Amino acid sequence: MSRGVEEGHPGAVQFDAASKKYGERLALDTLTLRVKPGEIFALVGPNGAGKTTAIGLLTGLLTPTAGRVLVFGLDVSSEPLAVKRRLGLVPDRPWIWPKWTPREALRFTGAVFGMTGRALDERIEAELEAFSLAEAGDQRAETLSHGTRQKAALAQAFLHDPDLFVLDEPMVGLDPAAQRNLVARLRERTRTGAAVLFTTHHLSLAEEIADRTGVLGEGRLLAAGDPRDLQGPRGMRGRLSEVFFGLTERP
Ligand code: ATP
Repeated sequence: MSRGVEEGHPGAVQFDAASKKYGERLALDTLTLRVKPGEIFALVGPNGAGKTTAIGLLTGLLTPTAGRVLVFGLDVSSEPLAVKRRLGLVPDRPWIWPKWTPREALRFTGAVFGMTGRALDERIEAELEAFSLAEAGDQRAETLSHGTRQKAALAQAFLHDPDLFVLDEPMVGLDPAAQRNLVARLRERTRTGAAVLFTTHHLSLAEEIADRTGVLGEGRLLAAGDPRDLQGPRGMRGRLSEVFFGLTERP
């Protein structure tokens, strides 16, 4: 059970009693959690639990009503640009200008991150290749399948070698081979020190790839820990898929 402070150094992600209200609605309630460099963290929870709101706070798209959110020790509210430089984000509804091709979108993203010339060209080719976008890379986004657009969004997130990947439902639309490829690439990046925070409704995916999982329910962190041996309140213990419903279903 963990609404309290998790011990340890500030790490890649640090939510300190962060809350977010939309009008009177408390979407996130004093969230405290940390993600360390090298760690893959899965945020799970029922629809409306506050996962996308947490990502909004982490990426500076939203401002906390109370508490604070830090990325590598930088306060997201006061140092938004420095934070964004270290982030690779795939939002819940990734968007590419419909007339652009994935290659053009990657070029734009590279420019935003100050990448130029041959180094940028090489990185773009590498990402198109890594996400099997060689053919689709020169087709307009409006003509691409949902999954192919998702791959393009992922390629954009990887382009500048971020230290922290923030991925809202990254597997949505990806075929099994693309899912496996994404997992392998994220693991490769965490081995060299990057951190990953992702949301998912696939509990088995969290169990398979996450080092730690947080379960959100109605804006509150109900449990956080190893998804293969998660300890909840009232003596609950087991795999995430066993504990989840006990934590999130009303009696
Ligand atoms: P899902 O699994 O359905 O994507 P989620 O866990 O990502 O859900 P959020 O999108 O963070 O949940 O929403 C948390 C709560 O905040 C919900 O009750 C939602 O209706 C509310 N909410 C989200 N965005 C807004 C907004 N812009 N204005 C008002 N309420 C909002």
